[in-house]
Amino acid sequence: MSNPDVLIVGAGPVGLNLGLCLLKQGLSFRIIDKKSGPTTSSNAVGVNCRTMEVWESLGFIDEAIKRGLKVHGTSLYSDSELLNQVKFDLIESKHDFMLALPQAHTEKLLLEELAKNGITVDWEHELTSINQSPEGVTVAIKHNEKDDEFSYRWVVGCDGYRSSVRDLSGLTRACHDLPLHFLMVDAEVSGEISTSTVNILFHDKGMIFMIPMRDSIRVVVEISTDEEYKHLKTCEPDIFREIVAKRYPKINIGRVDWSSAFYIHECLADNYRNGRIFITGDASHTHSPMGGQGMNTGIQDTWNLAWKLGQVKRGEAADTFLDSYSLERRAIGHDVLERSGKLTTMATTTNPILKRLRNFGIHHLADWDIVRSKVANGLSQSNICYENSPLVKHDQVRKSGQLKYPEYQGNKWTLLALNDSKDQLPSYVQIVSVKQLPLHAHYCLIRPDGYTAMYANDITEILEYFRKNHFNLK
Ligand SMILES: Cc1cc2nc3c(=O)[nH]c(=O)nc-3n(C[C@H](O)[C@H](O)[C@H](O)COP(=O)(O)OP(=O)(O)OC[C@H]3O[C@@H](n4cnc5c(N)ncnc54)[C@H](O)[C@@H]3O)c2cc1C
Repeated sequence: MSNPDVLIVGAGPVGLNLGLCLLKQGLSFRIIDKKSGPTTSSNAVGVNCRTMEVWESLGFIDEAIKRGLKVHGTSLYSDSELLNQVKFDLIESKHDFMLALPQAHTEKLLLEELAKNGITVDWEHELTSINQSPEGVTVAIKHNEKDDEFSYRWVVGCDGYRSSVRDLSGLTRACHDLPLHFLMVDAEVSGEISTSTVNILFHDKGMIFMIPMRDSIRVVVEISTDEEYKHLKTCEPDIFREIVAKRYPKINIGRVDWSSAFYIHECLADNYRNGRIFITGDASHTHSPMGGQGMNTGIQDTWNLAWKLGQVKRGEAADTFLDSYSLERRAIGHDVLERSGKLTTMATTTNPILKRLRNFGIHHLADWDIVRSKVANGLSQSNICYENSPLVKHDQVRKSGQLKYPEYQGNKWTLLALNDSKDQLPSYVQIVSVKQLPLHAHYCLIRPDGYTAMYANDITEILEYFRKNHFNLK
């Protein structure tokens, strides 16, 4: 039996999601993970609307929504006083909310979806070496104290912050640690707290952050500059209760289901591709959890990579086309790092002038639709349109206001054409007749991941686009 096309290293949320995306593209794959089984603890809680649009295409969004809790906005407080509530209703998606679904539940759901297709993870299998040649990638996988060699066409590292795939394949990254230190619990919380919004409380001793979930509430406290508690390396429930009681006596922390402590590292890989080897998720970018972007960004990495691998595997595009994965997704990783870094600085600042400016801005500006829309669409990642990519005619796309068409995403390109077009196009393009298009154009080309590529008035412009981007036109 021949080896699968792709080896996925790491069965966290990103590796599991990649498996489902590859299934949609008709690629065969194997998933390994060095752990003994699925995660039971949960870092990520917030699933954003763009991830939900991907899960809709993969066929399990209704189940995900059933298992999670819809969160409709953010309530911001300063020293116990409500500054403002920012609703998510201006998110440009039918999923105009954040889904609170603990990471362990997300991973369970993804594992179940894979199992429906007969796919299981090879647990306790660790990648220990990797070498590539023009023909393929040879890896050593350790299982039961024994190393075996296997070859694959492509290897994708979804193996997290300490990625072996990244380090063993010579991909580099730039990192720095932020001087910030947090404790967190999933707990029963009573008192004055909104259970339909995220709650952010700014406080002189450090912020408190709360996300409602179906069965409990995620509470995070910052202790970096709190002289009394900043030395703590682990999170003891009683001490956690004490910190919260001192800073925000209007709530009470009851039963604690899980507790942890974390620091923030900011890292970005210099390239997400080295030949036949790719990295995604935390292996390529890690940053502050403020804004809930890490897992969501990783899931979007896999959505971007899978259709590109599919086209190259089917001979529809040249191998060079795969460079666009790193080009497009690294730019997004860079933006996410910058945005989450700014949000963290804003939330944790100890500078009295910045604090006053922040609170003034939230109190007075956060009601403006233009501000709400920018914040909500930025955090939900629905404002992405790959503006610096050669695969997107960015000026047209921004002008049209139609950055994506999630209803047409899948494994083919879509050409929206006025009236019944009989144009001859490659087999990977489906034609859909429409009555009207933005910019008075005759055609709109949509990528398999749902993003708008370009508008045109003549079919030769579309063919030229494919030729220029290394596609096979037959
Ligand atoms: C406190 C906190 C809160 C967060 N909240 C959010 C949030 O609300 N929303 C959000 O989007 N993100 C959030 N994040 C970030 C999110 O948790 C991560 O981005 C996400 O877990 C990354 O997933 P991953 O699959 O890339 O990596 P991981 O989850 O780290 O999975 C990597 C897997 O690879 C395996 N592995 C490693 N090396 C090897 C090897 N050599 N061979 C085989 N297997 C290997 C590991 O065992 C592991 O299972 C949060 C993070 C923290 C710390």
